[in-house]
Order: sequence, then C-alpha cells, then structure tokens
Amino acid sequence: MRSEKVIAMGDVKAAAGYRIQPATCETHGDFEQRVTMMFGKEFSGACPQCAAAEKAKGEAREQAAKARGEREAMERKLGEALIPKRFADKTLASYRATTKPQAFAHQACIRYVAAFDEIERTGRCLLLLGKPGTGKTHLGAGIANELMHTTSKTAVYRTFGSVLQAIRSSYGQGAEQTEVDILRSLISPDLLVLDELGVSKEQPSDFEMTTLFAIINGRYEQMRPTVVISNLGASDLPKAIGDRCMDRLRENGGFVVPFEWESQRGKEGV
Ligand SMILES: [Zn+2]
Repeated sequence: MRSEKVIAMGDVKAAAGYRIQPATCETHGDFEQRVTMMFGKEFSGACPQCAAAEKAKGEAREQAAKARGEREAMERKLGEALIPKRFADKTLASYRATTKPQAFAHQACIRYVAAFDEIERTGRCLLLLGKPGTGKTHLGAGIANELMHTTSKTAVYRTFGSVLQAIRSSYGQGAEQTEVDILRSLISPDLLVLDELGVSKEQPSDFEMTTLFAIINGRYEQMRPTVVISNLGASDLPKAIGDRCMDRLRENGGFVVPFEWESQRGKEGV
C-alpha cells in the first residue's frame, strides 16, 4: 500500500521542476521569476510583462502578415479583372444619372449585381447597347468592381479587341499563354464583362466570329452570365456577332438596356 503524505507548496514546485525567486526587470521593476530545472541546468524566466509584450508583438506581426496576404489576394483578383485604369475607380455609386433613361440603365445594373446569386443560377446575360460616350463602360466596369469588392465572386473585364489581340499573340513563338489558356480565363470567372463588341457594322472575320462564339458559348454551357457592351443597337448587333451568339445571350431572359442619349463625354460621372 502506498503511503500518502501531506506536502507543502514549496515542495510541489520543487517536485515540478521549478522554483520562484525575486528578480528585477530594467523596464518593469520587481517580479517573481520562475527558474526551471532542465537537463541539470537552470533556466530563468522572463519578466511576465516583457513576455506579454513580446507575445502581443508576435500576434501583431501575424495579423499584419494575414492582412497583407488578404490584400495581395485582392490585388491578384483585381489584377486578373484587368479593368482599365481609367475605369478602375468607376463604381455604380459614382454614376450620375440625370435623365429617366439614364436612371433606368443605372438601376438595371444595380439590380443585376443585387440579384447576382439568382443571375448565376440561370446564367442570365445583360446587354448594354447604344451610342458611344453614354456611360456603358462606366456601368459595366462598375458591375465588375462591385462584385469584386463586395462579394467573393470573380469578375473579368475585357474589350473584345484585346481578347483578339491576346489570342493572335498566343500563336507566336515563345508565347506565354496558349489560346486555350486565354479562353479559359474568360470562361471560368463568375462574370465576364465583354466590351466593344461589334465595333463596326461590317461583317466580322471568321476568326473573330469563331473566337466570340467560343467565349459566349463556353460561358453559356457553364451557365455563367456575361455582360456585353456594344455601340450597336439591339437591331444591328445580331448581324455583327452572329445569330448563334445572339441566341445564347438572349436565353433565360437576357436583358437589353438601351443607351440612346447623346454622348456625355467630358461631363462628370461618365
Ligand atoms: Zn519587463
């Protein structure tokens, strides 16, 4: 049978391998220093206030690293969005509607973002069509900016011309991206804003038609919505982009917003 004996507090500490001794910190003054016995050596503990300050510093560093990581992730996300510098700070809130048709266009874009969860389920597209200089790109970039900043969704803005240019360069030797990479980068985001479609009313080349169909149809098959921007009206656009593309943009209630007022270029908020 084991013998139990009452032990004093000092003995307990000694048995656990440490003792407490008075010590003085240059900064914080007197404290109770913990001296631990390990491997036959004595290790003197730090002043508790210094230790707490060190711990707080470490935590602050961790916080800063985390914030930096999040910021870098956001910058990457925004970098991939490739919104032109001129439109990087164009938001839905900074659009100034002064007439009824402008307010209608503005509201349509605000509603599109607000209902994006539902939009994503149906792949419903939005077409901003009409005269140049009427704020279509502002609103299109604003939709992308809003989604990127206020949700976890990814949005990409491209002019169709820049897409064609990128694909042409991908055919060159030593190109960094293949055509498939480029198409994938346009099909995989939650939203694609494709600007400057149908720049002229002339019949586009086979290359242009094939590329556009690959993008529009690729997104259509994944049920991903696309915002299309063009200076052509709803009656001229089908000729410029082809009926097959037009059908896919219209499916599931593709929504046309007309921009028929005079150019606002040079005025504030466009
Ligand atoms: Zn101290």
